[in-house]
Amino acid sequence: MTEANSQVEISSFDEFQLDDMIAKALTFGGFQKPTTIQQLTIPVALEGRDILASAPTGTGKTLAFLLPAIQYLIDFPRRDPGFARVLIMTPTRELAFQIYEQVKMLTQFTDLNCGVITGGINYGSHKETLEKNNDILVATPGRLIEYLNEESFHADEVELLVLDEADRMLDMGFVGEMDRIILEAKRRRQTMLFSATLEGVAISRFSTRALKEPVQLEAEPPRREKNKITQWVHLADDADHKLALLVHLLQQPEFTKVIVFIKTRERLATLAGQLESAGIKTCWLQGEMPQDKRMQAVSRFSSGAVRILLATDVAARGLDIDDISHVVNYDMPRTADVYVHRIGRTGRAGKKGIAISLVEAHDIGVVGKVERYTEQALKRRVIEALRPKHKEAKAPTKTKKPKSVAKKKALKKAAKAKG
Ligand code: AMP
Repeated sequence: MTEANSQVEISSFDEFQLDDMIAKALTFGGFQKPTTIQQLTIPVALEGRDILASAPTGTGKTLAFLLPAIQYLIDFPRRDPGFARVLIMTPTRELAFQIYEQVKMLTQFTDLNCGVITGGINYGSHKETLEKNNDILVATPGRLIEYLNEESFHADEVELLVLDEADRMLDMGFVGEMDRIILEAKRRRQTMLFSATLEGVAISRFSTRALKEPVQLEAEPPRREKNKITQWVHLADDADHKLALLVHLLQQPEFTKVIVFIKTRERLATLAGQLESAGIKTCWLQGEMPQDKRMQAVSRFSSGAVRILLATDVAARGLDIDDISHVVNYDMPRTADVYVHRIGRTGRAGKKGIAISLVEAHDIGVVGKVERYTEQALKRRVIEALRPKHKEAKAPTKTKKPKSVAKKKALKKAAKAKG
């Protein structure tokens, strides 16, 4: 594996000498300076090398793989109509549609055909996508495999394969599907794998199977990215106090585009009702929601029709909405890495963002975890009229947890069975 030089400084997309049709689309889209991951990836990808990149969402990774892929299709035009030559696999529907939107934007001055295939969409519209001549296909693994099985799609025309958020696809249990794709797309010339992290056995084993002599690339160190997000904590005495804090915050004019994270669907429904009673309009996003409803919510929020989006953690990954002013953790997540994913929805592409956590005593332990994980202290702030009555409880120090009786019994039984 080759490690690329991270000292490059490319100040304009012009330096990649991309085709005029792509350059025009970039100008139209207002893109000027490539982000770090784009600076690192694009020159290597244009040489046709395999790529193993660690780049979390928000670093500009989508353009990093799309620009070289589109340039490739322009450089080597297709001779006969057929199935996709560039296949982009991605874990979630939202992410698939976001990538598809970027594909359409970047190919608007070309005559390339693009399509998207995900679960939750009726089969008829996919049939149309698959039957017509297709250059770039964005797909989620489950549904694509269905089409491979029924032979309405063949991956042997794929020349360039992109595996986006590969760690997430593996986490979601799609390893079989991903192996199938790399096997079926056997004639491909180039594979690019993007992952939020390259740590872990699953991703390293899979990348060995999927990639040939890849160049390994890393986006900016995560801490530098995180510093663009101002983070603080409000301590709450109880549930009512927490709700009052949230209502107060959401009424402030600078809260122009806010995602509020909540633990469960049930709590989300309750909170939506409480905010409505307080005269605050919201839309929401959660698991097990029909695709059209999800898209409606996302589009009402991203267009600015509604300022506040309530979401459970399914929305945390892949949601690409510009200009999120604030992320509010109404419920703290259980782990620090989920916290980092959540707050990553704001402060994107070099913009400043604010992340606020409303913390009751029982969640103070998570604040400690986050502080250790991100190696920075979260400032405590107070709203004078809503000052907490209680002082911050110290997070419990780690002592050995006494095992429950049931657990002890189970361990004894297992030991006995082992002999
Ligand atoms: P991504 O990490 O690909 O999800 O991109 C995050 C956001 O950054 C998206 O809204 C992109 O449109 C935006 N973006 C990507 N590249 C650039 C760039 N070079 N300059 C400004 N914004 C960018």
